[in-house]
Amino acid sequence: AAFAELGLDASIVRTIVAGGYNDPTPVQAQAVPAALTGRDLLVSSQTGSGKTAAFVWPALQKILEARRAGRAEKRPAPQPAVSEEGQPQGERRGANRPRGGFPAPTGPRVLVLAPTRELAMQVSRACSTYGQALQGLRVAHVVGGVPYHAQVKALRGPVDVLIATPGRLLDLMGSGTCRLDDVQMLVLDEADRMLDMGFIDDIQAVADALPEGRQTLMFSATFAGSVGGLAQQLTRDPQRISI
Ligand code: AMP
Repeated sequence: AAFAELGLDASIVRTIVAGGYNDPTPVQAQAVPAALTGRDLLVSSQTGSGKTAAFVWPALQKILEARRAGRAEKRPAPQPAVSEEGQPQGERRGANRPRGGFPAPTGPRVLVLAPTRELAMQVSRACSTYGQALQGLRVAHVVGGVPYHAQVKALRGPVDVLIATPGRLLDLMGSGTCRLDDVQMLVLDEADRMLDMGFIDDIQAVADALPEGRQTLMFSATFAGSVGGLAQQLTRDPQRISI
């Protein structure tokens, strides 16, 4: 399959192709169209297979669609050029704006959990690189082993994609810094490694705080043993993809 046939928006495809890739990798060719149907996915794939892009591209598409839907909703109804009082519309400043003049801050629509700081940073960079077509895309990451201050500050503003290691995210949720009720897609990257590192309770606590109707994508080298159990808890009627 070619990039244009994966079902991604043309603006995202243009960014991918401009980056110099010729063809989707096998995991991308299978996981991207499947993710775009909205189904939950369990993907067995190794590092180096192109798996990061396989979830980042559908995640970006989700944000793009949510933005478009939001714009359509906010578009004001057609009005006469002159109001009944005879004032030009331009004089009624801020009539269509929410009170305070700014939209309410929104929480992330996509949440990615990753086992390590290094992997989280890699995903964060991939979001920024592939997300160039999404103007003003806001990517934030919260990872352990670094001071809280800057992360707390980053979460105060609106965020589109949040990438986190499970323990640090749970800490920040406990302090009320992090709102997760806008999450439409949860991605678990290297789920088997996260369980090896002892993150099972943290992952479950994070997942419990997310909206029920979200989409869940799990990536793991294996789905045997406890990862399979976690997959059963976190996904609904998942499609399995094995590379
Ligand atoms: P990952 O498996 O996500 O760690 O990706 C491994 C490497 O493959 C990364 O350096 C990507 O930049 C690169 N990559 C991802 N998708 C493609 C593609 N379709 N064609 C060529 N390289 C790719």
